[in-house]
Amino acid sequence: MVSTPSSSAPTSPPRRDAVARESADVAILERLRTPVWIYDFDRKRVVWANASGLVLWRADDVETLAARDLAVDMSPTVATRLAQYQADFERDDITFSETWTLYPEGRPTTLRVLFSGRRLADGRMGMTCEALAEITDTPERLRSAEALLHTTVMITLFDVDGRALYRNPAARQSRARVGESFAARFADPADHAAILAALDAVGSVVRQVRVVTSNGVRWHEISARQCRDAVNGLPAVLVSETDVTAHKAAEAQVRFLAEHDTLTGLPNRAMLQPEIERRLRAAEAAGREVAILFVDLDRFKTINDSLGHSIGDGLLVVASRRLGETVRANDFVARLGGDEFLVCLDLDCDAGRAAQTAERILAVLDAPIRIGGVDLTVSASIGIGLFPRDGRDLDTLMRHADLAMYTAKAHGCGRWEMFSGDMKADVERQLLLESQLRRALENGEFEVFYQPRLAIDRETIIGAEALLRWHHPTRGLVLPGAFIPFAEKTGQIDKIGACVLREAALQQKAWADAGHDLSISVNLSARQFRDPRLSEMVRDIVRETGCDPGRLQIEITESMLIGDDVTSAACLRALADLGLSIAIDDFGTGYSNLGTIHRHPIDTLKIDHSFVATLETRPALAELIIGMCRLLDMRIVAEGVETEDQLEWLKARNVHEYQGYLFSPAIPADHFDELLRRQAELAATPPANGRSALWDLVPLVRREGDVEWTTAGETPKVRRLAIAGAVEAFVRRDGH
Ligand code: C2E
Ligand code: MG
Ligand code: MG
Repeated sequence: MVSTPSSSAPTSPPRRDAVARESADVAILERLRTPVWIYDFDRKRVVWANASGLVLWRADDVETLAARDLAVDMSPTVATRLAQYQADFERDDITFSETWTLYPEGRPTTLRVLFSGRRLADGRMGMTCEALAEITDTPERLRSAEALLHTTVMITLFDVDGRALYRNPAARQSRARVGESFAARFADPADHAAILAALDAVGSVVRQVRVVTSNGVRWHEISARQCRDAVNGLPAVLVSETDVTAHKAAEAQVRFLAEHDTLTGLPNRAMLQPEIERRLRAAEAAGREVAILFVDLDRFKTINDSLGHSIGDGLLVVASRRLGETVRANDFVARLGGDEFLVCLDLDCDAGRAAQTAERILAVLDAPIRIGGVDLTVSASIGIGLFPRDGRDLDTLMRHADLAMYTAKAHGCGRWEMFSGDMKADVERQLLLESQLRRALENGEFEVFYQPRLAIDRETIIGAEALLRWHHPTRGLVLPGAFIPFAEKTGQIDKIGACVLREAALQQKAWADAGHDLSISVNLSARQFRDPRLSEMVRDIVRETGCDPGRLQIEITESMLIGDDVTSAACLRALADLGLSIAIDDFGTGYSNLGTIHRHPIDTLKIDHSFVATLETRPALAELIIGMCRLLDMRIVAEGVETEDQLEWLKARNVHEYQGYLFSPAIPADHFDELLRRQAELAATPPANGRSALWDLVPLVRREGDVEWTTAGETPKVRRLAIAGAVEAFVRRDGH
C-alpha cells in the first residue's frame, strides 16, 4: 500500500496535488535540486518524491513510484533496520546521514542520504530522505559501508572529549539518549576510567562492562582503540560494542550452580572456602573474631531411610530455611553436604553471640515440621570454633568446629559445644579407634573366644558363650569393653555383630559335627536388636551355616526390653520362632519388672557376676535375685564364678548352669576343642571322691589366649589370669 503525507486514509493511493495542498514544506522540497523522497515505513513504499527524486527512482511520476512495493525485494536486515529508524524517530527528533545503496528498477545506486522523521498525514511516523551525493567509490568501500550499516555490532567514533562523531545504526539504537557522551555510557564510572587509562597506556582495550542503553543496563563487551578522525585528522577513539548479557547470564547461572546446593539453594562447599577466607582476612585486619558453627542434624539418616528421600529432602529444605532466618543478614550459611551445615558469624567484639546463635538455632530447629502429611521433629548438634583462638586458617578452624560438633553428638545430641584443646585429643583418639575398627574388620583382627558354660550338677561343659576379642596390631589383645560401646555408637557394631553371630553359628555346626552337643550363646547389642532386619539376618545365617538354631542362644539385656514393647516383642517372637533361645544377660542390673520379662519368649536368666562376687558379703541380695529367677520359672545361669565357695553356694540353690574363671575364661576355639577332647577322655575315667574327673582338668591360664593345660594333681592349684596384659587376677583354688 502506498501513502503520502497528504493521504487521508492509509489505503487510498497518494495524489501529488494533495501533498502540495496539505503540506507547505513539500513545496519547498519540490524545489530542491537534490533528490528528496518520503518513505512510509508501514507500507514500505516511497509515497512522494520531488522531480530529482523521481529521476533517481527512475519513475515517471509519484503515482508510479508509490505503486512500487519495496517489500518485494527488501532483505530482512534492511526491514529490521528501517523499523528501528521508525522507532528512533518516534523517540527522538533526530537527523542523520548514512550511506545507503538503493535499487531503483534493480540498479544499485549508492548515496549519502540524510534521514529525518516526518509525520504522515494520518499521524504515523514516516521518513524524509535527501540524497546528498551519489557515491561512486571502489567496490570495497561500498561494501564496507553497507556492512557497517547492517551489522549488529555497535560502532561509534568519539572525539577525545568523548563526543560522538559517528554512530552506526546499531550504536544509535542502543544509546540511552541523543548526544550521549562516552562517559555517560557506563553504569559504573570506574569502568570508564579504567578504559581511558588502558587507552592511554597501550592504545587499545577490550573489556566486559555494564552499560546504560535504550534497553536498560546491559553487559557489553567494549573494544576501544585510539585512531584518527578520517575527516579532520584529529585524535579519536573508535569503540565497538557487542551485547554479551545473555552470555553473562548463562555464565552467572553456571557459576551459581557450581557454587550452590541445588536442593536448598544455599552456597555449597565450593563457594565456602573463598567466602570464609575473605571474612577471616577482613576480621584479622580489623582485630575482630569470627565464629564457625558446624550444624549437623541428629538422626537424619534414620528419617531418610525410614520415611524416604523426598521427606528427607523436604526436611533439609525447611532446616536450611530456618537456619537462614535465624542468623543476621551479613552472616553466611552454607550446606556442607548431607545433613551438615556451616554458619559463619562476624562477632563484632561480641564473643557471646556465637553461643546465643547456637542456642537460637537449636530452638528454631526444634519446632515441629510437617512434610508430606508427616509431623517431624529434628534436633541438631552444633560445634563452634572461634577465629583466631581455635585456628588461624580455615582448615584448622573447620576441623576444630567439627570436633566440637562430634563431642556434642557424643554428649547426647541436641546441644552445642565450644571447641577446647582436650576435645581434640579425645576426639582424635575416637576417630583413630573408628578407623582402626574398620581396618580390624577388613584385616580379620577379630576373633571369637568361647567361655565354657557348665551344668552345675554334672560339671560338664554343655555350652559356651561367644565373646569377642580384638588382636590389635600394637596394643595386643583388646577386650570388648574397650571397643563394643564405641562400635555401637558409630554403627560399626552392625557388621561386627553379624560376623560374631555367623562365626558362632559355624562353630556350633563344627562342634555338633564332631559329636559335641553344645549350646552357643551370642551377645546382641541394643542397636542390633532395634534393627528390623535382625530376624531376617539370623534366618540367613542359620540357613547358610547349617547350624542348629535350637542350639543358638541370643543374650540381650533387660534395658533392651524397656520402652517400645511392641517392636521388641515382635523381634523376640521372630527369633523364638526360628528356634533360638533367648537369655537375659546381666540379670538384676536392669530395671525391667518381672511382668515385662514374662510377656516375652525368654527362657534363661544370667545372674550378673556382681551378685556372685558379693555373695559372701551380701548373700541376701543374691538370694533375692535367685528367688526372682525361680519365680519366673526360668533356667538360671550364674556368671563370674571364681571360687569354689561361690560354686557350692549356687549349687545349693539349684542354679542350673555356671560360667566363670573358676573353670575357665573365654578361650580360642582350638583350645576349646582341646578342652572338649580331654573332657571326653576323662569322662571315661571313673569319678574320684564322687567328683567328675573333669574337675582335675585345670587350665593354667597365663594369659587369655595363651593357655596351658595341666591335669597334674599338685595342690593348691593356682590359676593365673592376665587379661590384655593389664589386669592380673589370682584365683586360688584349693583342691579337694
Ligand atoms: P557379658 O556378656 O556379661 O560377658 C561376661 C563377661 O564376664 C566377659 O567379659 C567374660 O570374660 C567375663 N567373665 C567371665 N568369667 C568371669 C569371672 O569369673 N570373673 C569376672 N570378673 N569376669 C568374668 P568380656 O569378654 O570382657 O565381655 C564383656 C562384655 O562385652 C560382655 O559381657 C558382653 O556384654 C560384651 N560382649 C562381648 N562380646 C560381645 C559381642 O560379640 N557382641 C556384643 N554385642 N557384646 C559383646
Ligand atoms: Mg553375655
Ligand atoms: Mg553378663
